[in-house]
Amino acid sequence: AKERGKGRHAIYDAQLEHDRTADAQLGAELRRALDGGEFSLVYQPIVRLPDGEWTGLETLVRWHPPGRDPVSPATFVPVAERTGLIVPLGDWIMRSALRQAAAWTEQFGAAVPHEIGVNVSARQLREPGFAGDVRAALTETGFDPERLVVEVTETAVFDGGAAQDTLNELVSLGVRVALDDFGTGHSSLGLLRTVPTDTLKVDKSFVDGIGSGSEEAVIATAMIQITDGLHLKAIAEGVETAEQAQTLHRMGYRFAQGYHFARPLSAEQITRHLAEAPAT
Ligand code: C2E
Ligand code: CA
Ligand code: CA
Ligand code: CA
Repeated sequence: AKERGKGRHAIYDAQLEHDRTADAQLGAELRRALDGGEFSLVYQPIVRLPDGEWTGLETLVRWHPPGRDPVSPATFVPVAERTGLIVPLGDWIMRSALRQAAAWTEQFGAAVPHEIGVNVSARQLREPGFAGDVRAALTETGFDPERLVVEVTETAVFDGGAAQDTLNELVSLGVRVALDDFGTGHSSLGLLRTVPTDTLKVDKSFVDGIGSGSEEAVIATAMIQITDGLHLKAIAEGVETAEQAQTLHRMGYRFAQGYHFARPLSAEQITRHLAEAPAT
C-alpha cells in the first residue's frame, strides 16, 4: 500500500509539474500576445424584457493567435489568472472598453446602451492599486463611473479581505458591482449584505432548466423575489429561446442576455447597430 501510495504521489507530482510547465508556456505566450496586439474585445448586449431594447453591453475578451484557431477565454483567462498576466491584460481590457464606450457616448449619447460591464477576476481585485488604475482609466476617458459595472464572481469576493476593500474603493468612485454567475459559486445570501452589489447575474444553468415545475424554475423565482425585495437588479444570463425569455418575463425578470437576443458583437457591429437604431 505504501508503494502504491508513493507511486501515486509521483504521478501526481508529474501531473502538477506538467501543468506548471504548460501554464508557464501559455503564460509566456499570452504575454507576447498582449505585446503583439493579438487580443480584441467583443460586446454582448444586455436587453430589457420583453422588448429587447439594449440597456447595456458586457465586454468579453477574445484571443486570435495569428495562423491558429481563436482560443476561448474560458481556456486562457484561468491561465492568465494563475500566471498573473490577468493584471496587465485586465488593465488593457478596462482601458480599451472605457475608451470604446466613451467614443460611443460621444457619437450616440449616454442613453442606450447605458451600462458597460467589464469582467474583473479575483486576482485583479487582490492587486494593490487596481482601484487606482480604474480611476485613472475613468479620468483619462471621461467615462461616467456610474455607467461602469464591474462583474465579479461570488467566489472572488467570498473571502472578504483585499477583494472586498477594492470593491468598496470602486464603489466610492461611483462604479457599480454585479455578482456574476450568481448561484454557482460560493453562494451565500450573506454576501448580499457584505458586498456592495447592485446587480445579480443569474447563471445560465438556471435559465437552461427553467421549464415549469423544475427546481431551476423554483430557484429562478426565488432569486427574482430576493432581488426585488433588496432593490437589486437581476439579469438572466444565457437566454437562448423565446420560450425562456417569456418564462423569465412572466417570473418578473426585466433584464436578460443571451444568444436569443444577440451574440457578442465586434465594436464595428455595435456601431452599425447604434447608427441604424431609430432615435429615441
Ligand atoms: P461570463 O462572464 O459568464 O460571460 C458569459 C459567457 O457566456 C460568454 O462566453 C458569452 O459569450 C457566453 N454566452 C452569452 N450568451 C450565451 C448563450 O445564450 N448561450 C451560451 N451557450 N453562451 C452564451 P465567453 O466570451 O466565451 O467568456 C467565457 C468566460 O470567460 C466569461 O464568462 C468570463 O468568466 C471569462 N471572460 C471573458 N472575457 C473576460 C474578460 O474580459 N475578463 C475576465 N477576467 N474574464 C473574462
Ligand atoms: Ca460576466
Ligand atoms: Ca456570467
Ligand atoms: Ca460564466
